[in-house]
Order: sequence, then structure tokens, then C-alpha cells
Amino acid sequence: MISQHMKKLIQKSEVISSLFADGRNLKQQYGAENVYDFGLGNPNVKAPESINQTAIKILQEEDSLLIHGYINSSAGYADVRKKIADSINRRFDTHFDEQNIVMTVGAAGGLNVIFKVLLNEGDEVLTFAPYFSEYDAYAMNVGAVLKAVPPNTETFLPDLNTFEKYITEKTKVVLINTPNNPTGVVYDESIIAEIGCILEEKQKEYGTNIYLVSDEPYRELVYDGAEVPYVTHYYKNTVVAYSFSKSLSLPGDRIGYLVLPSEMDDYDDIRQGTEVATRVLGFVNAPALQQKVVAECCDELVDVAYYDANRELLYHALQKYGYECIKPQGAFYIFAKTFISDDMEFCKKAKEYRLLLTPATSFGCSGYVRIAYCVSRETIQNALPAFQKLAEYYGVEMKE
Ligand code: PLP
Repeated sequence: MISQHMKKLIQKSEVISSLFADGRNLKQQYGAENVYDFGLGNPNVKAPESINQTAIKILQEEDSLLIHGYINSSAGYADVRKKIADSINRRFDTHFDEQNIVMTVGAAGGLNVIFKVLLNEGDEVLTFAPYFSEYDAYAMNVGAVLKAVPPNTETFLPDLNTFEKYITEKTKVVLINTPNNPTGVVYDESIIAEIGCILEEKQKEYGTNIYLVSDEPYRELVYDGAEVPYVTHYYKNTVVAYSFSKSLSLPGDRIGYLVLPSEMDDYDDIRQGTEVATRVLGFVNAPALQQKVVAECCDELVDVAYYDANRELLYHALQKYGYECIKPQGAFYIFAKTFISDDMEFCKKAKEYRLLLTPATSFGCSGYVRIAYCVSRETIQNALPAFQKLAEYYGVEMKE
């Protein structure tokens, strides 16, 4: 008999697993090219050519015992961490060294590591709805509880007055994600600075430490010149969870890192804790070959212009067909209001038009869907008549 905890997780995962299953079935029935799968954030843009070349070179030149062996520090290779720290310093005017970087198994691994280090049973993780649906499980993994500030559906930017009221003496972590999955919004400097000020005050008021964890797999995927402030400049108790899954299109390689600023409270314990957590969670260390590869390629980027063109095409078409959505400034998602309040029902109807969308109930914001446009241009072009018919089915008028 499986655990009660896992039973609940399986129930919660059913939305995503049924999306996979429906996608497979529809593709078998109609052929993959006739199914418009906007369900998952799996990048369609290829990794830069240099990734494979670098991997091949490393495999040919490095000692095989080293590159396939356990790494003597769970934090990762020191030379890799140094190169990554240098790259962050160059780009964001920071002063990190290898002691501030811990290599992780993607952002997911990094979040689980830092939660394991920081959270006691019953502690609260506070985030903003809508949020990446796995956050609930990551908090639960360590017996903590995820609380969400209700969505501000005007702009999908954080409502900081409400945020302040949601912080309690149990709040140990505030988790932000910008550019955001699922809305595509980017928090500007004033928002980040204000979050920092509020947390400073709340720490004083409660006499606690509140850590700001910034989940940043989409940092470089921004459009129209949007800037993503480097959060450690605004609040000293900040941990950055970064990933190469999207910036280099390497989601299957499972590689990312945590940034732990030396000036944060309890830095030594936290730093040591991340090594132990990496081990005891069973990661042992982030993949050795991928560490070496990203150290050489961490200043490179996938073709963001491809996503930008997808965004323009889909956003303008959806507007024309009468969908209500804000223009995303980052990541690769459009968050659209459903024409009925039940987003699950809406997604079922969309499937009749062979459109696979993700209901936003799973992101803590019902009445919306997430449309992942990290697909081929052709998929978007072919899907447009289906989006139009879906709007027509609900009697929505086309805009000129
Ligand atoms: N956080 C957010 C907001 C995400 O969208 C994702 C993946 O889509 C992750 C974390 C996990 O990313 P990774 O593949 O780096 O573990």
C-alpha cells in the first residue's frame, strides 16, 4: 500500500498526466501534426550547437574516471562554480565566488535542496498565485505548507499590500518566480525592492529570518527589452535557484545552481546544509558532465527571437479572436481567461478542436488557461483556426 501522502500527490498529478495521455491518444488518432499541443513547457528551440561540441570535447579530453566519477564535493566542481560565479558577476555586477554557488539538479533540485535546508515541519512558504504547480509538493516534501497570495488578475503582478498581510511568524521562505510561469510577467526593480523592504520590516517585527527564494529558470527569456533585476542586490537573505533547462534548452540534462550570498544570515550553516541536502535527498551531486558543459557555455543562450516571434503571432491572433490575456514580457507562456468559469471544462472543449491547454486551477488561479508557446511556428500557425473556432463556439465576437 502506498503512503497517504503519495496518494494525494498522484491525485493532484492527474491533470498533467491526463494531459500527456490525451495528447498521446489524439496524436495516435489524428497524427502528431494535427494535434496542437500547448500543454507543457518543454522547449522546442534547440540547444546552441556549442553544447554538443563542448560535451564531445570534454568526453574526449577529460579523464574518464573524473568525468564519470562521484565529485568530491556535493556542491559541485570548484572550477565550474568559479566560472559560473564569474559569469554572474560580469552580467549582474555582483561579487560572488565559488563558495556562493552550489550546483543542482535543475531548478527543481535546487528548490528541494534549499527547502530541505531551511524549512521545519509546519513552516510556511509564501508565494504569489498563479504559481508553478510543483511548489506545493516541494513544500510538502519537507512537511512545510505552501500559502499563496491571491492573484491580482488586473496585471498578474504581486499585490504587495495583500502580501504584507499574508506574512506571519511562521513564514520562513517567500518564493518568487520572475519571469513567471504561468503568466509571463516580469517583476521590475520597484517590485523587487519593495518586496525586500517588506521582508526587512517583517523580520524585525517577528524577530525571525525570512529567506527570499527567487526561482529563475526563465531569467534570460525576456522580450521588448524587459529587465530582470538581480534579486541579491535588494535583500541580503536571498537565494537564487537558477536552471539551464530553458536558457540553454537542456531540461533533460538536469543542471542548474543555487546562489547563496555570503552576507545572508546563517550563511555558513546554509552553505554546509546545501551539500548535506544534495547528498541526503539522493542527488549526491549534480550531473558531472553537464556541470563541465555549462561552465563553458554559461554565457550562451538559445534563440530567444524564435520564442518572441511565436509570442507575437499567438498573442495578436488571440486578441483578435476575443481572448482576454495580458501580453507576456517573458518566459514562453500566455495566460488567457477562459470563456466559462470552469477551466477544466474549457480544456475538455478545447480538446475537441485538438488543442491541448493547461487548466490554471493547477496553478492556483481558476478561470484561466496556460498556453505554452515553446512549440514550432508551424504548430501555432496550424492551431490558429482551432483557437478561433473555440472562441466562436462560446459566442465570442472577433475584434477588427
Ligand atoms: N520553476 C519553474 C517556474 C518552472 O517553470 C520549472 C520548469 O518548468 C521549474 C522550476 C523546474 O525546472 P528545472 O527543469 O530546472 O528543474
